[in-house]
Amino acid sequence: MRIAVTPSPTTTVHDAIVVGAGFGGMGAAIALQRLGLDDVVILEREDDLGGTWHVNRYPGLAVDIPSATYSYSFAPNPHWSRMYAPGAELKQYCDDVADRFALRRLMRFGTTVETATWDDVAGTWTVTVRDGEPLRAGMLLTATGFLSQPKLPDIDGIEDFAGTVVHTARWDDSVDLRGRRAAVIGTGATAVQLVPEIAPLLAELTVFQRTAIWVTPKLDGPVPRALRAVYARVPATQRLARGIGSAVLEAIMVTGVLRYRQLGIFNRLAAATARRHLRRQVHDPATRAALTPDYSFGCKRPTFSNTYFPTFNRPNVHLETTPIERVEAGAVVTSDGRRHEIDTLVLATGFDLWDANFPAFRIVGREGRDLGAWWREQRFQAYEGVAVPGFPNFFSLNSPYSYSGLSYFTTIESQMKHITRLVTAMRRRGATRFEVSDEANAAFLARMRANLGDTVFTLGSCATSRSYYFNQHGEAVLLRPTSTINAFREAGRFPIDDYVLT
Ligand code: NAP
Repeated sequence: MRIAVTPSPTTTVHDAIVVGAGFGGMGAAIALQRLGLDDVVILEREDDLGGTWHVNRYPGLAVDIPSATYSYSFAPNPHWSRMYAPGAELKQYCDDVADRFALRRLMRFGTTVETATWDDVAGTWTVTVRDGEPLRAGMLLTATGFLSQPKLPDIDGIEDFAGTVVHTARWDDSVDLRGRRAAVIGTGATAVQLVPEIAPLLAELTVFQRTAIWVTPKLDGPVPRALRAVYARVPATQRLARGIGSAVLEAIMVTGVLRYRQLGIFNRLAAATARRHLRRQVHDPATRAALTPDYSFGCKRPTFSNTYFPTFNRPNVHLETTPIERVEAGAVVTSDGRRHEIDTLVLATGFDLWDANFPAFRIVGREGRDLGAWWREQRFQAYEGVAVPGFPNFFSLNSPYSYSGLSYFTTIESQMKHITRLVTAMRRRGATRFEVSDEANAAFLARMRANLGDTVFTLGSCATSRSYYFNQHGEAVLLRPTSTINAFREAGRFPIDDYVLT
């Protein structure tokens, strides 16, 4: 990794640099624009905006949070075709929002950030990019996503495979799957969407499962045209639908996961619902048993589907739970010595959060503090999930304890509120620098750690879940262990003196 290049003294100092042109980065840019910060640059590694919804285009891609809720509250879309919109509609929505808020002109695509370094004398961030001039800005915001570094499995011989290999986050539309003998490695939320879509096309499909996933029924369906017309004409009706969706998600999260100590019964009910769903949908008892998770509901992200389980009733689909030993040119070999001959290998193996991400590139703050090293040595932490001591004028939007609730938009909008409150207070006080105090950060961390004590992550049986909610130290620090109501309220009320403003 290159160390920050010193920019020329004439390099423009932008108001802010936002890294990432997904929903999070776009939300941050909208908040900054509303604050009157016009000189904002959005740097994006990919060749278009949309983050996850641009990158992921595997068959079956859809949102699994109701669309009326999975969208900005201030930019409702009355045109969602289904209760859970397909991926292409999400991408279209990203484009529409970018147009509506004139964000495209701020974006620079194909720009991979390598480092960001705070210059304490100038009071600016210097950002270096691959194959480009360094940039400077008074403020840095990272919105690089949680699930943005695809993980390739560390399996012996995988590089020797002679057929087609595709990771779900790098889907190749030109691959014709018809008649192929394929393997899917992984059974996370992505595989749950993908497997039912590709199974009917394939001659044979073997799904390699290491850890079973909890799957509950998906209350999905088309949104009738008449209802869409009502949403368009009377936006309050869609706000009501959004409110109901948010309330249900909040109830699931709070009762099933966060207040496990007090309300564990709801967690058990959710698990029972998923088990019943499985019983109804899979005929073979051995397959059913193999598909039943052996860890508490909520330890790892559950998902919703009506089509995943029935796929295992198909004669051309096999579930394989024997561990993979190696991959050869034309086969996956399991530890019992069996060769599973295939010509296509689909890696639904998810993303690297805790090694390749957090942060997604090198960030060096005051006195040379390296964010990645500091997080790993001192614990993963971020005040209100957005600010880190030693890093002035920096909002880290994909941080430990930042993801609140189930719909990402509750997190995004809380963060927009936090940014707005802080920048407004800075202006009022004539300050140009902010940095969260050590005390406020420590108090927030202590509170989150105490709250974690009530959650399924601490009290449930999570040891076998292999959940990305847990970091390399076994701490479940990805999700904010409070209600979204608490997160949203605090974003608008946190004591300004939790920050040192100068
Ligand atoms: P994931 O949940 O991390 O699942 C990855 C799968 O690959 C797991 O089953 C994992 O097994 C398996 N795996 C990884 N390395 C392996 C290896 N070396 N050998 C065998 N198996 C291996 O990833 P994902 O399915 O892409 O989903 C990631 C997240 O994206 C979801 O949790 C969700 O938040 C989001 N998502 C959302 C939607 C939506 O509709 N909104 C759709 C798709 C994804 P282990 O569990 O044993 O490690």
